[in-house]
This record gives sequence, C-alpha cells and structure tokens, in this order.
Amino acid sequence: MLSFFCPYCWRRVSENDSICPKCGGDIRAADARPFAEKLRAALRHSEPQTRVRAAWILGERKEVSGVPDLMAVVIEADDAFVAEAAVEALGKIGAPEAIAVLEQAQEQGTVRVRWAAHRALDQIKSSRQQRLKVVPRRCG
Ligand SMILES: [Zn+2]
Repeated sequence: MLSFFCPYCWRRVSENDSICPKCGGDIRAADARPFAEKLRAALRHSEPQTRVRAAWILGERKEVSGVPDLMAVVIEADDAFVAEAAVEALGKIGAPEAIAVLEQAQEQGTVRVRWAAHRALDQIKSSRQQRLKVVPRRCG
C-alpha cells in the first residue's frame, strides 16, 4: 500500500486529499516539485518534528539522492532527535559514503545518536558483505 504525505507538514494524508487536513497546505499545487526534492528541503524545516519526519521518509523510500543532505544534518547535529533520524535513514538507505560521518557520530554524538550510528554502520556493512557474496568462489 502506498503512503501519502503532506509536502508541507509531512503528516500522513489520504490519496484523495487536495488540501492537507492537518496544516491546510495545498497538496495539488505542490505536486510540481519532485517529491524527493521537497523531502530534502524539509530537512531544513523550522520545526524539528518535521525534519525528523522528512529524514524518516527519505530512509523508508531508500532515497539515495537524500544522502548528502542527511549527512549534513548528522554533521551539524543541532538537534539530537533530528540527527538520530538522519543516522537511521542513512542506515536504511545503506549509503557507504556515509560511513566516515557515521563513525564520527558514533564517537561524538549523544547516547541516542551513538546507538543509532552503531546500528546504521552494521546495516551498511552487512548489506555490503551480501553484495560481495554474490560472486561464488571455487576453492582447492
Ligand atoms: Zn500538511
């Protein structure tokens, strides 16, 4: 089942809503901009809750184009919950380019961010190993 989200407040809406019942945003008018681009912009939203939500959706959709913005959020780390959500999203996307940033978050973040970074690094490394195992090797 497809989930639909308001591109202004990022709360769940129904497929047929043209106006968001939660924030009153004009969903139809916003359709012109690509969804991923709107999500990346929402990582800079003034409400931390919306930033968390945008990071979460980017992770669920495995939005590779969001990786640089998510990495920037982790580096800035101005809000622990937002940083944690960005770290989790990078793990779900499985972005190997984020390994250095996640290793740093694992050392320097808050407790929540450290744990999330630890899990994300495991996710990225195990998905990498699975890719390597695809080629069979003959022994002896
Ligand atoms: Zn809304």
